[in-house]
Amino acid sequence: MSIRDTLNRPLRDLRISVTDRCNFRCVYCMPKELFGSGHAFLPRDEILSFEEITRLTRIFTEHGVSKLRITGGEPLVRHDIEHFVAMVAAVEGIEDITLTTNATLLPGKAEALREAGLSRITVSLDAIEDEVFRQINDVGYPVDRVLEGIDAASAAGLGPIKVNMVVKRGMNEEQILPMARHFRGTGHILRFIEFMDVGNSNGWRMDDVVTAAQIRDTLDAEWPIEPLDPNYPGEVASRYRYRDGAGEVGIISSVTEPFCGSCTRARLSAQGELYTCLFGSRGHDFRALLRGGASDAEISEFLSGLWSLRADRYSELRTEETAHLPKVEMSHIGG
Ligand code: SAM
Ligand code: SF4
Ligand code: SF4
Repeated sequence: MSIRDTLNRPLRDLRISVTDRCNFRCVYCMPKELFGSGHAFLPRDEILSFEEITRLTRIFTEHGVSKLRITGGEPLVRHDIEHFVAMVAAVEGIEDITLTTNATLLPGKAEALREAGLSRITVSLDAIEDEVFRQINDVGYPVDRVLEGIDAASAAGLGPIKVNMVVKRGMNEEQILPMARHFRGTGHILRFIEFMDVGNSNGWRMDDVVTAAQIRDTLDAEWPIEPLDPNYPGEVASRYRYRDGAGEVGIISSVTEPFCGSCTRARLSAQGELYTCLFGSRGHDFRALLRGGASDAEISEFLSGLWSLRADRYSELRTEETAHLPKVEMSHIGG
């Protein structure tokens, strides 16, 4: 039975963070000053097991969830992730499973992920110029290897690949056109994302945001674009097509044109806290229920209770002040 929150939004999507670890230190997400060698990542026993997440997934489907996105941290660094995909793919009611990755481990895993039941993949890539990309990931990782990961995913049948680029002023806005040029005509869908004030470690300021309107204008001046209809109601990216037929691009305008009214997403952290908004400051502790012996019915009731009270619409209320309120880190809930 589908549940509705106080703004009449159903629960449809569950984003599952399977780890808080990552092999990158993207400067806007896991800056080295805070995620350096002294950082304490979650010990293994504090992270939900695949069995625990699968049990929750089953309960969530009873309340309307049919789409899963697996994320992190970097989801592919979690051992045996393809086994997990197969486990959740077998849950009745799950129709679509996607995964967001930095693509570093895709060449070895794309095939197995597809066979396990993954539907599609989203790759994050913030620059096409090698030097710029190495500075952003801050571990000196080359662009070519990410492109190899995209090719591997495509060859495994996980396409069309969505390529997400977070645009931050002073970091990579001059990469908008080179990225568009690279992916035009490839069949992959490049999506530009406004830099958001998630977490507490990225020092967000409104001045850092290159707005969706600016991105649209930059593209349109080089290669005229026109809007496309959403694929489904509530799609987060606004879709455009190049008028010359070179394919599609998307823009995710979470800051300047928020889409809270159609937000049907819940997010589960690696340690089992459920957040009903990306900008939440506190999660609901499902691990305590799972490990405290709660029955499926009790967990189910807890979920419907908290969703029916949900009133989140952070992006519609955002100001420079709210940007500094304590929030969950992106590397905990994975975007
Ligand atoms: N490691 C995987 C990856 O990078 O694709 C999955 C997790 S990562 C946290 C998910 C997405 O969040 C990435 O595309 C990343 O660029 C994006 N992201 C992180 N911090 C962000 C921010 N402040 N604003 C917008 N997007 C952000
Ligand atoms: Fe890692 Fe993804 Fe965050 Fe980059 S954006 S540090 S790849 S979790
Ligand atoms: Fe959903 Fe919160 Fe983002 Fe609004 S701000 S779209 S409620 S996650």
